[in-house]
Amino acid sequence: MQKVNKFALNAAILLTAAWACQAVAESTFADQLEMLEWSDPERAAQIIDAAPPLSADSVASEIEMLEIRAMVYADGTRDEDVQRIVQRLDDIASSGDASAVRAGRFVRAYSARQHSQFATAGAELKGIDIRSIPSDSERYRVLMLRGHVLRVLGQDEAALPFLEQALDLANKIHDDLRTVHAMLALVGIYTDSGNFDRATAQLDSARGLANRLHDETALVETEEREADIADRRGDRTAERRASVAGLEHAKRAGSSKWLILALLNLGDSYLKARDFAESLKYSKAAVPIMQRTNQRDDMQVTLFNEGLAYIGLGSIKAGEKLAESAIAEALAGSNLLDEKELLREYADALEHAGYLMMAIQVYHRYDEISEKFMTNTRQRAFLELSAQFDDERKARELELLRRDNALKASEMRGQRLQQQLILAAALFIAFICAALVWAFARVSKANERLRFSSEHDPLTGLSNRRYFNERVLAVDGGRPVGGCVLLADLDHFKRINDTYGHPAGDAVLAALSQRLSAALRDNDKLVRWGGEEFLAVLGPMTPAQADHTAQRLLQAVRREPVLWNGQMIRCTISIGYACFPIAGSATDISLDSAISLVDKALYVAKRRGRDRACLIKVVSARDEKELTSISTEFESATSDSRVQLVEILGAAA
Ligand code: GH3
Ligand code: MG
Ligand code: MG
Repeated sequence: MQKVNKFALNAAILLTAAWACQAVAESTFADQLEMLEWSDPERAAQIIDAAPPLSADSVASEIEMLEIRAMVYADGTRDEDVQRIVQRLDDIASSGDASAVRAGRFVRAYSARQHSQFATAGAELKGIDIRSIPSDSERYRVLMLRGHVLRVLGQDEAALPFLEQALDLANKIHDDLRTVHAMLALVGIYTDSGNFDRATAQLDSARGLANRLHDETALVETEEREADIADRRGDRTAERRASVAGLEHAKRAGSSKWLILALLNLGDSYLKARDFAESLKYSKAAVPIMQRTNQRDDMQVTLFNEGLAYIGLGSIKAGEKLAESAIAEALAGSNLLDEKELLREYADALEHAGYLMMAIQVYHRYDEISEKFMTNTRQRAFLELSAQFDDERKARELELLRRDNALKASEMRGQRLQQQLILAAALFIAFICAALVWAFARVSKANERLRFSSEHDPLTGLSNRRYFNERVLAVDGGRPVGGCVLLADLDHFKRINDTYGHPAGDAVLAALSQRLSAALRDNDKLVRWGGEEFLAVLGPMTPAQADHTAQRLLQAVRREPVLWNGQMIRCTISIGYACFPIAGSATDISLDSAISLVDKALYVAKRRGRDRACLIKVVSARDEKELTSISTEFESATSDSRVQLVEILGAAA
């Protein structure tokens, strides 16, 4: 299956859809139709024929559509339809519409061009003031046609500025299709003027763009231009390769216009290679397509090629007739370009076929027309002119580059500023976070210190009663105690204060608390319970171990006097203690009650003479109530044996 040119197919679908729903703006529609006219005029004609009668919402859009329709009709040599459009444009123009006058001129010029009446076309186009055209697409259309017509009339220097302007305009409006068409037109003019390097460079750009656009029709023309350059350089292999590639693209494009062109060029290629039979084959393959699409112009070229093939095959009469007829037609239409080329090829064919006299005559005719066409002086002038366009374009590109650089520099400045702001913000946030962390650490340290000082006694460094109440009693105070509880009180401490002074008393408290601490194990808790009272809560131990501990505490205090300001202060303590669970008690004893009981035992130790420890060995309590009464009537309970006490004397050790 033949692949169809993507652009042409897309455009056709889009255009048909546009007609169906009338949702696409007229200008877009006209634009796409114009592009389709270039790539596949036959399909463009089918779309126009299938469309409802023209209904435009403004005179301007009607004129534009009329212009494009006229181009499509002229491509198919539908002179009556073209004439009707010219008539309609004249009607609008009669009301004083300048754009209709301009469009009328354009249509007449376009139609004349299709009929190879280039002088007429040139005259019509001369009447159009291109600068007064407001629409870019119309200006491009006129520039391209004017450039093409002047080129064919052999006026390359005049044609060049129009084609260059068309390319600039297409670039300016970022229209890739128009850009590629203008580039290819410039390749043509550079090739004609013998400027092959320039033509090749422009062709490379055009090919790149056509490839990017996947435009098969533009690729056909690219290959045909390539073949033309190769032909003029005498590179037969490159010429054949490009011609064959052109035919492949044309088949893929599915456009009759480009298929005819590719077949003709391949016929021409075989003609130059003197393979006349093969040449005739391609020429004849093009004929039915030309007849179907009414391509009179192309028919003339085909007949010319056939003529040369006949000459090559020895049928001089038939060949001469066909060739001369084509040359006459080119002359009638002022198509100097074609006439020159036809004469060259004709002379060449005659020479190679051995008709030397005839060949010389034709060469004379060729020389005459070449004189008209381009002298050396004119060639130089043309080259200077194209160089001037180069300079202008370079200057424009430099200016654009400068502006682009300035824009980029300001963008970079903006970006740098933004980065600096972000960095500053990040640093600020990091600083705030660090400050918060630091402040938080300080606050928690201060809290820690506060809590420590609120839970510790500053004089002895021991935990205080508040700590014990909140951290131990509040948590474990109600649970049955399982260990040893001791309460120690300094004996006659008031006297020490009185004798040595309060500071001495403080020193004694500090020194003794250290001794008591040292006499206990690491896990034992020692609390400054009151003024000169200390509470120790120890883990579970045997009664013997408990006695041992009590004895150690008594000795720790009494063993050595406290040295203060050179004075020896002797001290003793009294202790009340008990180990839980306690013998005789049927009820569990809580820490609260245990402290209360050992306090009572301490009181007994005081009363019995101090410097001793009183152990509560047995408490006979069947229940909580009995325990409470024992605690409140401790003295009598010791007498009636509800409580049994054992006494350790400090002095006994
Ligand atoms: P007892 O043997 O019966 O315990 O007699 P005591 O003198 O030790 O007991 P008392 O309760 O009569 O006196 C205790 C004294 O301890 C009264 C108080 O001024 C003194 N004291 C309490 N706390 C401190 C303190 O932190 N430093 C000093 N230097 N003295 C204190
Ligand atoms: Mg005391
Ligand atoms: Mg006391």
